[in-house]
Formats: sequence, C-alpha cells, structure tokens
Amino acid sequence: MACEQFGIIADYLGIDQNLRQRLLLPKRALTVTLPVRRDDGRIEVFHGYRVQHHLALGPTKGGTRFHPSVTLGEVTALSMWMSWKCALAGLPYGGAKGGIAMEPHDFSKREMEAVSRRYMQEMIPFVGPHTDIMGPDMGTNEQVMAWFMDTWSVHRGFAEPGIVTGKPVAIGGTAGRREATGRGVVYLVERALDSLKMKPGDCTAVVQGFGNVGAVTALGLAYKSGMKVIGISDHTGAWHNPKGIDIDAAQRHATAKGSLAGFKGADEIQPDYLLLLKCDVLVPAAVEAVITEKNAADLQCRILAEGANGPTTPSADKILNERWAEVFVIPDILCNAGGVIVSYFEWLQGMQAQFWSETEVADKLFRILEVAFTAVIKRAKDGKIPHRTAAMAIGVERVLAAKQVRGLFP
Ligand code: NAD
Repeated sequence: MACEQFGIIADYLGIDQNLRQRLLLPKRALTVTLPVRRDDGRIEVFHGYRVQHHLALGPTKGGTRFHPSVTLGEVTALSMWMSWKCALAGLPYGGAKGGIAMEPHDFSKREMEAVSRRYMQEMIPFVGPHTDIMGPDMGTNEQVMAWFMDTWSVHRGFAEPGIVTGKPVAIGGTAGRREATGRGVVYLVERALDSLKMKPGDCTAVVQGFGNVGAVTALGLAYKSGMKVIGISDHTGAWHNPKGIDIDAAQRHATAKGSLAGFKGADEIQPDYLLLLKCDVLVPAAVEAVITEKNAADLQCRILAEGANGPTTPSADKILNERWAEVFVIPDILCNAGGVIVSYFEWLQGMQAQFWSETEVADKLFRILEVAFTAVIKRAKDGKIPHRTAAMAIGVERVLAAKQVRGLFP
C-alpha cells in the first residue's frame, strides 16, 4: 500500500526515476530475535524489527508496535508513512518504525518487562537521541517506554530522556502526550466540519478502536465537541446506540475490564457493520486496511478522519476519490500527526531540560496542525487533487528537496 501510494505521488510530482528508489527504500533495517522466559518456565523466541526510512532531515522518529501481525514489511511501510507525516508537519525527523510480532494481551507484566528490555538491549547500537527516537504505538504504552529508557540509560551510565517519547511524566514525559493523537484528530474534525459549515453539536460519530487514539478521540468528540458518538468498537466487538453512547461509562468499563467486552451501554453489532453506520464523522482508529474496495462505496459518513495509520487501501482510495463531494477525507499522515508533533515537543523539552504546561503543549500542537491542514486543503483545491495526494505531495517534496541539496548519503 505504501509503495503504491508513493508511486501515485511520484507520478503526480513527475519525480525522476533516479530519485524514486532513494525516496522509497528504507535507509537501514534491523531484525533481531528475542529469547524470553515465560512465566511457565518455557523460553520463547520472538522476532523484532526496526526500520529507519531516511536520514536527510535529522534523526529518525517512530513508534514501536507489539502485535501478532508485525512483520519487516509492515514496519517498513509504517516508517515510510512516518517520513511523509513528519515532513508534512515540518518536523526535523526522518521516519522510523519498529515492533515485535507478539500478542501483548497474553503477556503478564513481568513478561512484558522482559520482552521490552530485551528488545531495547538489541537496539542499543542502532538507536539514540540523535540517531533514532522511539515512541509508543499499538500494544505499547508509557510503561514500555520507561523500560526502554531505563535499559538504554543503564547501559550508557546516565539517564537519557531523549531516547524515547511517550514516557511517564515522572521521568521526563511531556504533559499531554498520551492525549495528543486523539486531541489532534478532534481538532482536525472540528476544522473539517467548520469548512463544511456543519455544527459539531448536530453531528454523530462512529469510532473504531478504543485504545489510546480511539478512546481519547471518542471522549473529545463527545465531551469537547458535543457530538453524539453512536458507535464504538475494539478487538473484542462493536457496539451501537443511535441515542448516543455514554463514552465515560465505556472508558470506565474498558479500564476496569481491559476491553469493551461485556459493555452494556449499547447493542452489540457485527464489527464489519460498524464502519457502514450512517454518521457524520467516521474515525477508524485501530488497524490498517479496514476500508477496502469491498466497503468504500457503502460508507455513509460525511467526514472520514483517519486516526489509524493506513486504514484505507489504495483501491478503496480510488472509490473515495470519486466520492470526494460526499466524503471529506482527512488522510492519516495529517489526521494522526498530533502524536509525533507532541513527541517532538517532548524530545525538545528533554534536550533543553525544560517542562511546558499542558495548555502550552496543546496550543503549540494546534498551531502546527492548523498550518498543515490549511496547506493540504489549499494544495488539494489548487491542484484539484484528493486530500491524500495533496498531503503526501507536500511531505514527499520536502524530503526530496533535502535529499537533493545534501547529496547521496542520506
Ligand atoms: P492501542 O493499542 O492503544 O489501541 C488499539 C485499539 O484497537 C484497541 O482498542 C484494540 O482493541 C483495537 N483493535 C485492534 N484490532 C481491532 C480490530 N480488528 N477491530 C476493531 N478494533 C481493534 O493503539 P493506538 O495507539 O490507539 O493506535 C491505533 C492506531 O493509531 C494504529 O494504527 C496506530 O499506528 C495509530 N497511531 C497511533 C498513535 C499514538 O500516538 N498512539 C499516533 C499515530 C497513529
């Protein structure tokens, strides 16, 4: 998907064949094996990966994903999307991504600590605050980032907060990082509604995924924007209530039980049907490739806000491009950029030993998102091109410009 999308942008921008491979292929990739002692005494070996896509603008930056479907190909695609996302937001980073193929829900806290520390141990020669900075992604959280930071710091003999972002505030994490991606999604949804002259208070929303991005987005849409959230889901199922779901209650349930399974505040529905519910705002905030050529024509939303990375396949994109007057797409590299923008703030604060307030963080976040949103909408309008093409074109052009002036190395 990432390669196909890049091909479309490269054709659109008329990029020379000599430059395409340099923009497409990752600069560095590392695969590792991680032997971990399970609680029952068995030793299991897991596969871990880290990919650094380009080095033209500064260190690389990207999350670490713990999920059974993690492969070298998946993290490579995600690292490339990170490159365009960072460049679109104007951040001085190349993209990176990493992960371990494992099911984190099956791990005890001790096992999680063992696998996290082992992964960072293997990564020590490959990452650093000026080389490659990790952050959280699906299946990882603040605690995992704290273990990463501790493992790297113990090895080097001094505390280095700049090695990871998304850390707990107690060790140099920034106020507002956990909420950043969801907050950004909510901000951009409000901007899109505003440009369509729609009032949030009259709108309904459906959110797929109830983790870091999904839950914060659902809470923001319900209680900040004043929208009626009529559908939610996670890996255990999907729930619908046309009168609006009590998102606070859903959040309490998920926190207490570990998932939405057993939630009584709405009717349980077929997960595939969730995306097809009639609503004003649809937010896929779980996994990739959920909007495909099979369901793109049947989406009944006015705004598609891509909280997840890569939720829409290129073939679905073609259908949505034809439906541009019906469905306003906020593409992933713009929609979920809040996370990496606030990660950048966390890295800056760490380097300067400064601490900003949550209001300052949110204010600076919205300013960067505003600039990126305006640039994407203008580019799309001027060029009569889809929002995704516009967003990626801006990102790719910035990386290309840096590579061209620097030479062959990065
Ligand atoms: P998370 O692990 O906190 O939550 C993922 C959620 O998706 C969970 O509720 C899980 O139950 C649910 N889920 C998993 N498979 C599902 C399925 N098949 N159907 C419905 N729900 C399913 O992860 P997250 O950090 O919220 O990340 C979600 C997405 O957002 C990913 O694509 C990630 O790459 C992207 N993203 C995250 C951040 C961030 O700051 N966390 C930033 C940018 C992009």
